[in-house]
Amino acid sequence: MITENLKDVEARVCAACERSGRKREDVTLIAVSKTKPVEMLEEAYAYGCRYFGENKVQELDEKYDIMPKDIQWQMIGHLQRNKVKYIIDKAELIHSVDSIRLAETIDKEAAKKGIVVNVLLEVNMAKEDTKFGLMPEEVMDFIHEIVRFQHIKVQGLMTIAPFVENPEENRIHFANLRKLSVDIAKEKVDNVSMSILSMGMTNDFEVAIEEGATMVRIGTAIFGERNYAHQI
Ligand SMILES: *Cc1c(COP(=O)(O)O)cnc(C)c1O
Repeated sequence: MITENLKDVEARVCAACERSGRKREDVTLIAVSKTKPVEMLEEAYAYGCRYFGENKVQELDEKYDIMPKDIQWQMIGHLQRNKVKYIIDKAELIHSVDSIRLAETIDKEAAKKGIVVNVLLEVNMAKEDTKFGLMPEEVMDFIHEIVRFQHIKVQGLMTIAPFVENPEENRIHFANLRKLSVDIAKEKVDNVSMSILSMGMTNDFEVAIEEGATMVRIGTAIFGERNYAHQI
């Protein structure tokens, strides 16, 4: 089932790339495996997936120990500061930095390990009360503040678009995130890259690719619906 789903998702990713004149290799597919048992991850791994997304520290930690070491783990969920230390050297990229306090903790823990941690800034493009993330207008100032942390490397921006019936409704948010990243790139801030745009999920990834996503985070279309009883 997962292999079939992955073939289907892959075809849709390719088609969206083609429609928008982009190269398939410019879009990274992240298999969002939160709540799913390792057998399912193994099937996706056998298909060729090497990027897996998790939103809970403990779950990422457990799966990290079990799964092969060439996986690039993606921390996509809201991160509590007291848990940063458990994943600091396990997540290849943290997608959800949205406060200076969190950045400070990441920097401190990274310094202890002598590493530089790749992060994205999470932006709440639709300004939903229920979502984490910086407001779009706060991002530029935030960039200028975060550069002081020597053990953090900003690689781009991430957004979680609203849940909508018609994915076209989210096109504006994806386009605006891209515009924001272009504006930031123009500032040429030292040590800040805007090469990654993490946007698009099961319901709207095709629109996100058309608007410039370089990473899409896809769970349901690969692994099926989630129920939230934690399993491993
Ligand atoms: C769960 C989750 C996804 C995947 O959502 P689907 O709709 O199942 O594809 C993507 N991004 C984040 C941040 C998530 O928490």
